Amino acid sequence: MITVLSGGTGTPKLLQGLKEVVDAKDLTIIVNTLENDFFSGVYVSADIDTVLYTMADMINDELWYGVKDDTFITHERLEEIGCPELLRIGDIDRATKIQKTQLMEKHGLLKACEIQAEKMGIDAKIIPMSEENSDIKIITDLGELEFHDFLIKHQSQPEVLDVKFSKVKPSAGIIDAIKNSEAVIIGPSNPITSILPILSLDGVREALKDTYVIAVSPIIGNDSVSGPASKFMKALDIDVSAVGVASLYDDFLDTFVIDNKDNDKKVEINQIVNKVITTNTIMNNLDAKINLARIIIDSIP
Ligand code: GDP
Repeated sequence: MITVLSGGTGTPKLLQGLKEVVDAKDLTIIVNTLENDFFSGVYVSADIDTVLYTMADMINDELWYGVKDDTFITHERLEEIGCPELLRIGDIDRATKIQKTQLMEKHGLLKACEIQAEKMGIDAKIIPMSEENSDIKIITDLGELEFHDFLIKHQSQPEVLDVKFSKVKPSAGIIDAIKNSEAVIIGPSNPITSILPILSLDGVREALKDTYVIAVSPIIGNDSVSGPASKFMKALDIDVSAVGVASLYDDFLDTFVIDNKDNDKKVEINQIVNKVITTNTIMNNLDAKINLARIIIDSIP
């Protein structure tokens, strides 16, 4: 069994490669839930849905959000009748979200995800990191913003001064999944708002210490490949580089994969992590995703 810790963009790219290299039945994916909330009357768990769609080959992998070739009839109609949505939810995607909302009310989020994964023909196990809602605030020069207001309404433009999120309980099965895995892969996801929330769950860091853990850096040079990760790291006084990312995982990380462009940082990172692998980590096509996945799997002792 291999466990993957995931957000909603960088790691799903890697999952597209991983599912070509290992049997999906052997994958457990623990997914960030920090940004989950209700929008337009439905529960939106963007990272979980992205992972579901990725594993079901339905993902819109230009946006890493929603279903490919989706239509927006409901979204557009809502706008026409004076009820504009903050999030652009496609019609098929909305069906997933309506189903999840209903399943969740009846069975909780964990079971809802299990049922949806099964309906989508997904063999991997997909576990939301928590069934509780997190409270996340982005403290900016414009004041305290809700995560989606920062990301969508303000297009991640404000200066970020701090990122705060509440502590939540881990979903059942997370610690066992980590302990029973031959390896845990931390994908190249936003270290602050996708990975740290998973690491802050009770028992996770301790469980990772006893398991082989390999992580891929989402930072190349001094910037993130996409999204606001570098802004968040800067606000928390973390060096915006692969070195800074490694320092966040230093108590349990066995192997760190950095990009060829960061070869000059290898010696410094080696003081934090025993093994450093340098390769191409930009996953802009399936071959690159498969290559990176293979390197990771081959590293497992
Ligand atoms: P979010 O939930 O949409 O924020 O997505 P994630 O947290 O999963 O991923 C965001 C991170 O993925 C960003 O920090 C990016 O730098 C990183 N990322 C995206 N694409 C790539 C890629 O091809 N290679 C690497 N190394 N990192 C990537």
